[in-house]
Amino acid sequence: MGDPIKAGRDCLIMWGCFTLGLVLFVMGGGRGARAFTGKAISEQAAPAQSSLQGVANQNSPPPDRYTLAPEQRARAVAYSHIRYILYFLGTAFALGVYFLLWRAKVAIAFRNWARGASSRHFVQCLIFVPLFFVSVSLIEFPLEYYSGFALEKRFGFSNQTFLGWLADWGKALGITVVSGVLVVWILYSVIRRSPRRWWLYFWLVTVPLTLGMILVEPLVIDPLFYKYTPLEQTHPALTARIELMLHRAGLSIPESRILEMDASTKTNAVNAYVNGIGSSKRVVVWDTTLRVMNEDETLLVLGHETGHYVLGHVLKGFVEFEAGAFFAFWIGFYVVERILKRPDSAENLEGVGDLASLPVLLLVLTVLTFASTPVYCALSRQVEQQADQFGLEVAYGVVPDPNAAEARSLQILGEQDLEDPDPPAFFKFWLYTHPPLDERIRFATSYKPWAEGKPMELVRPK
Ligand SMILES: [Zn+2]
Repeated sequence: MGDPIKAGRDCLIMWGCFTLGLVLFVMGGGRGARAFTGKAISEQAAPAQSSLQGVANQNSPPPDRYTLAPEQRARAVAYSHIRYILYFLGTAFALGVYFLLWRAKVAIAFRNWARGASSRHFVQCLIFVPLFFVSVSLIEFPLEYYSGFALEKRFGFSNQTFLGWLADWGKALGITVVSGVLVVWILYSVIRRSPRRWWLYFWLVTVPLTLGMILVEPLVIDPLFYKYTPLEQTHPALTARIELMLHRAGLSIPESRILEMDASTKTNAVNAYVNGIGSSKRVVVWDTTLRVMNEDETLLVLGHETGHYVLGHVLKGFVEFEAGAFFAFWIGFYVVERILKRPDSAENLEGVGDLASLPVLLLVLTVLTFASTPVYCALSRQVEQQADQFGLEVAYGVVPDPNAAEARSLQILGEQDLEDPDPPAFFKFWLYTHPPLDERIRFATSYKPWAEGKPMELVRPK
C-alpha cells in the first residue's frame, strides 16, 4: 500500500522529492534514507511468489496479529536489520563523500575547470554540476549497487538484470544532473545577488518548483520507468468495483484513467496509488498486486491510497516539506556562514557564492535532513494510520468483510516485503514511515464502527 522510493514515489514524493529534494536531499542525506526506506519501512511489499502459502491464505481465517513462520521470520529480521544498518551507513558515507570533495579540494578543481572554460555563470554550472554529481554517484556506486541491487536479489525482491538495474541507475543520475544544473544555477544566482537573504529567496523558489514537480511527476517521470494500460482490459469486474469505491470516496475518475502498471518488469513489490489533479487524475494498480492479492485485498490497498488522495495528504506533505525546508535553509545559512569564516575554509573558498562551496552546503543539509527524519517519520505514521482507517471505511459496502480483507492484505504485504515482525523501538522512532505491521493488523481487525452503530469518521458518502 505504498510506493517504493526507488520507483520514484512514496511519501518522499509527496514531499517533493523530484525537485530540490531529488537534487539536494537525495544526493545528500536522502540517499541513505532512500537505500533504507526504499523497501522495508515504506509501504510496499515484494513477493517471492513462493511465500504466499503463509498465514494470509484466503481460506484460512484472517490474522489478528502479524505472524511469520520461524524460517521466514528469521529472514525478515535479517533483511530489516541490514536495511537499518544501511540507512545509517549510507548517511555517514554521504557525509564522508561531501567532506572529501570539500577538504581534498576536488570541488575547487572542478570549479577552476568550469571557470577556465567560460566566464558565464550558467556555462560554469553546466560543467561543474555534472562533474560534481557524477563523482558523488561513482563514489557511492558500491553502496548503491549493494543496497539497490545485490541485497534485493539476495532476498528475492528484484526481477531486474544487472544491466537493467544499471540502466535505471543511469537514468536516475541523468535526471539528477539535469535538474541539478537547474537548481544549482538558481541557488548560486540567488546567493550572488543576496548574500544575506539567499536562504529565504531560494526557499521561495522551491515552493513553485516543488509543486510543479509533484504535478509533473506522474505525467513525465513515471513513464520513463514504466508502461501503463487500462485495467479494464484485463480486470473488468475489478475495475467496476474500483469505480464504485471511488464513488463512495467522492471521486470521479473515468475508466480510461484506471490503469495497470507493469511493475513486474522490475520488481516484485506490491502497490497501487491515486495521483494527479484535474484531467491527470488517475488510479494506478501495479500488476504485481493483482498477482498476489484477490480483488477484495486489492480494493483495500487501493482504499488506503484513495485515503491519501482524498484526505489531501499530498498537499499536507507538501506544506510540511516546505515548512521543514524553511528551517533547514535558515539554520543551514548560519552554519555554512560559520564554517566558511574559518581561516582554513576562507583561504580556498571565495565565500558561499563560490560554486566550490556546494559540498559544504550539502554536508550541512544532509546533517539537518538526518536529524529531522524522526519528526518526518512521526508525521508520516499519523497520516498512514489515517489512510488505513479511510481504507476500511471506504471499502465497507464494496467488500463483504473489509476487516478480514485488510488484515489479509497487510499480512501479504508483510510476508512479501519481509517486514520486521518486531522492530526495535529506536528504529521505529527514527525510521518508520508507517506504524509497524503488527499494529496495523490489530487496528484492521478491531476497527468496525458499522458493527457498533457508530458513524464513519472519514468517509461521508453522499
Ligand atoms: Zn500510505
